[in-house]
Formats: sequence, C-alpha cells, structure tokens
Amino acid sequence: MEFIVNNVYLPIEKDESELPSIVCNMLKIKRENFVSYKPIKKSVDSRDKKHILFVYSLLVNLNYYYESLKTNVNVRKNNLIERIEVPKFTKVKKKPVVIGFGPCGMFAALLLARANLKPIIVERGKMVDERIIDVNIFKENGVLNVNSNFCFGEGGAGTFSDGKLNTGINDDRIKFVLKEMIDHGAPEEIYYQNHPHVGTDNLINVVKNIREEIKSLGGKFLFETTFKDYIEDDKGYLKGIIVSTGQNEEKIINCDHAILAIGHSARDTFTNLYRHNLKMKPKAFSIGVRIEHSQEELDKIQYGKEYQNEKLPRSDYKQVVHLDNGRTVYTFCMCPGGEVVGTPTEEKTVVTNGMSYYRRDLANCNSALLVNINIEDFYINSPLDGMYLQEILEKEAYDEKYPYKAPCQKVGDFLLDRESTSFGHIRPSYRPGVYFRKMSNILPGFINESLKLAIPEIAKKLKIFKDPDALITGIETRSSSPISIPRDTDGSSSIKNFYPAGEGASYAGGIMSSALDGIKIALKIIEKYQRK
Ligand SMILES: Cc1cc2nc3c(=O)[nH]c(=O)nc-3n(C[C@H](O)[C@H](O)[C@H](O)COP(=O)(O)OP(=O)(O)OC[C@H]3O[C@@H](n4cnc5c(N)ncnc54)[C@H](O)[C@@H]3O)c2cc1C
Repeated sequence: MEFIVNNVYLPIEKDESELPSIVCNMLKIKRENFVSYKPIKKSVDSRDKKHILFVYSLLVNLNYYYESLKTNVNVRKNNLIERIEVPKFTKVKKKPVVIGFGPCGMFAALLLARANLKPIIVERGKMVDERIIDVNIFKENGVLNVNSNFCFGEGGAGTFSDGKLNTGINDDRIKFVLKEMIDHGAPEEIYYQNHPHVGTDNLINVVKNIREEIKSLGGKFLFETTFKDYIEDDKGYLKGIIVSTGQNEEKIINCDHAILAIGHSARDTFTNLYRHNLKMKPKAFSIGVRIEHSQEELDKIQYGKEYQNEKLPRSDYKQVVHLDNGRTVYTFCMCPGGEVVGTPTEEKTVVTNGMSYYRRDLANCNSALLVNINIEDFYINSPLDGMYLQEILEKEAYDEKYPYKAPCQKVGDFLLDRESTSFGHIRPSYRPGVYFRKMSNILPGFINESLKLAIPEIAKKLKIFKDPDALITGIETRSSSPISIPRDTDGSSSIKNFYPAGEGASYAGGIMSSALDGIKIALKIIEKYQRK
C-alpha cells in the first residue's frame, strides 16, 4: 500500500540510496517490507551550516496496510491527484471560448479539449516563437510591441519568468499541474522540489506542447485576436463575444460559455468591461521596487562553506517586516541567478519584474521589495482607481531621454536619498538598460519611507541587505491585480456563463494558482455541459 512519509532527513553528503533504510528505521519496519519510493517533496534545511540536511516527503510503497503500521508519526494516506478524469462529449452545439492563453487559460483549455468540447482560444499576442523575437527586440533596442511582450502572448505572463511553481494555496490538484508540465516538457524534479522551478527555457516548450495537444483534440487558436466586449441576452446570459483582429476588424464569436483569463495587465480590456457595466471591485495590492544582490554572496550566507556544493540549489530568501507605521514590506518573486526584466504593456511606461533560466546561473539574484497598499490609499470613485495609480507611477518612471530604461539607485544612496552616480560591485541586469534616478522622485512618499525603514530591518535578519552597492530598479507595480471581478457559486460574473478567472480577476497569484483556477472553472463548465 502507498503512504506519504514526511520529514525524512538526509545529510547532504549522503546518497539518496540510503532513504529506504532511513524510512524503515523511522517506521520501525523490516527492510524486506519496503517495496519502493518516489520523492514528492525535497527541501534544504541549512539552519545549521555545519550539518546541512535535505528534508524529504516520500511516497512509499510498503507491504503494510495503513492501520497495521505501528507508528503513523509523519505518515499519511496517499491523497495525491495526478489525473483528472473528464467525460467525453460527442455532440456539442456551441464551443466554449477561452480568452487568454496564460497558465489559467492554458489549463482550462486543456481540460475542455480533453472533454472533446473543442474550445476556441482567443489570444491577443503572438505564438510563443514569434513572441520571443518581440521580447528580444525590447531587450536589445528598447522598442515595445504593446500586444507582444513579457506579459502578452502565448503562455501569458509566466512564460518569460523564473517559473517558480510554489503557491501558498493548498490544493490536491497541484501534483496534477506538475505532472502535466512534466509530461509536456518540464524537468522531472519539479514534481518533488520544495520550490519547484521550471525556468523560462523549459516553460516555452511546455507552452508549445500544451498548445499542440489542444489542437490535436480539435481546439482552435485565434492568435493576434483581442477580446473587446461581451454580448448578453435579455436574461443576462452570455450570447457571444466581440473580438478584433490585427487589422482592427471586429467580429462576433457566438458562444454560451467564455472564460475571461486575461491576466492583470490588460487595462484596455478592464476599461471596456467596466464601461459595459460588468461588476468589478477595487482590490488592495502592492507597490515597490526590484532589489538585486550578488547570488554568490547570498549562497555564502545561506550555505556557509558548502556554498559551491553542486547538490544544493541556488539559495533564495523570503522576508517580511511589519513596520510601526502600519505598513508591511515584503520580498516577493525572488529569482536566484536571474535577471530583472521590463514588463510594460503600454507605451512610455516602465515596470519591472524578474526571470531566470533553469540553471539559475547568472551573477545576480533579484526580488521584488513591496509595500502593501490598501483600498483607502487610492480609491476615489471607480473600481479601476488602483489601476489608474499603477499607470501614473509607471509613466513617472519613464524618461523620454532613456526610452524604456529603468530608473536605478544603489541601496546606500537610496537610504540617504541621493542620486547614484556610479555602480559598485553589483552591475544591473535590466535590459534595455538603466538610468540613475532617485526613487523618492517616483514612488509615493509612504512607499518610499516604508522601504527606507524596512531595508535596515531586513538586514538584521539577512546580511546581504546591508550591501550598499545592491541595486534597486523600479518600479514594481504589477505583483497582483488591483481589481477583482466577483463570481457567483457557479463561477459566473454578473453575466451568466461569463467566467472571470486567474490572476487578472483576483482568483490567483502566480503560475500554479492561476493554472488551478483555470482547472476549477473548466470543470464547472464541463458540469454544465453534462446537464444540458
Ligand atoms: C516576468 C514575470 C515573471 C514572473 N515569475 C513568476 C514566477 O516565477 N512564478 C509565478 O508563480 N508567477 C510568476 N509571475 C506571475 C505569473 O506569470 C502570473 O501570475 C500568471 O501568469 C497569471 O496567469 P493568468 O493565466 O491568470 O494570466 P496571464 O499569464 O497574464 O495570461 C493572460 C493572457 O491573456 C492575454 N490577454 C490579455 N488581454 C486579452 C484580450 N483582451 N484578448 C485576448 N487575450 C488577452 C494575454 O496576452 C496573456 O497571454 C511572473 C510574471 C512576470 C511578468
């Protein structure tokens, strides 16, 4: 019978082949009753730098029934979901539409396609191989394509990312998402790593392979096609959607069910939906900067003399400070051995984020350093007010003299509120480049002050934050959506069978939770088709 055994400790100098005997000792069972094992989680415990440990959760197959185990400390029944069974429909009058092919739209479309519903996928950006060209033009020449960039295009915002797959939510279907990613080209170890990470290089293949499976099942892709508006009938049910193609021609797609999985950057779309009276609400979010340090120095701090041990992953961190002024400052989306990237979707704006390749072998690590913003901080009278604040700040960060370069300041200078004039030992990774500017000239006063208070506090816990040469590049405004679109119990928005999903509608934050939300909504739609 299969069990999950947690908290299996293995010193880093030992080999995984010792795991069976460690488990047998833990469970007080004989070695001949241990059949096989598979890691389902592996993390590093480096609190004691002289004795760094791997900590495993293992799916083990034993010649025992759960009830007959003498000890069930750290043992639980196998509840992992690796497969989701869906019915196969034979007659479908109207195909469901999926708007946006990010992680949410991708997983929703995959399940709908497997149910033989032959979904139509509407995606404003280009196919990923063509998108890569536009992303590189932006990085090399500072020329932005507003429909094909780090946020928009096949694969969504997650495609050129660090590909971290950890999530704060607890959902039995997480292993399903990981398994699907592996089956579509991601490395096997994401299945068990504590902080699974795919890397942008692998993600691109995963996206292409999922698209090909959907196509092979009869799904239809409309790239470079932007959703503009929805059409409802007189009872408030979805009747169709209006899309525009590259040539600005509008056309109607008749459909009874559509998933709106547009991410959090489609401001033109949110504006259209608001004008059409779709119910939406303002939502609290965060604003801050990216901070860049030396990865090697971080590894030394986190791993001590083992910092070059190839068995250990590149080190990371997660920090949070609750300030006396009532603000919380926290690190987010930490990218070991990665680069800071520009993620604007509108002309003459600057926004930062972070990404890495699978090997995470670049010189710098980076992380967002964010301050929480409450609705009262920005709300005037529209649910889009948070979005308007983002826009104002992103425009402020743009300087005509340095098209799409990002404002940058050394941490030492930031703390003294003076403009930097040269770099120290950390060089900026951001392309198309940076220009020196005081962050206090861009950030709202309370954000700037909160960051200034928080950096020395974090430095007390994590030495690398003491480095005056560390760089802050700005600005980071899009860590989550400033809008939420309410859903009723069947997943619909204020228009029946029009389903807001994923990060843009505030049902997810990150690749994994967006994929899970796509799955959840797809299953609701499949259930409705069953009732028809
Ligand atoms: C550079 C970067 C790095 C990141 N790193 C990580 C990470 O390491 N780990 C992590 O968990 N998360 C990361 N994130 C966040 C993560 O990418 C998002 O949380 C996730 O992609 C959200 O998924 P989604 O499907 O809801 O939306 P998105 O991925 O944003 O996808 C939305 C899709 O909708 C399309 N679209 C928008 N408007 C329209 C329209 N009107 N008509 C048709 N199509 C439209 C867009 O082109 C896009 O393809 C990163 C984000 C960025 C930008």
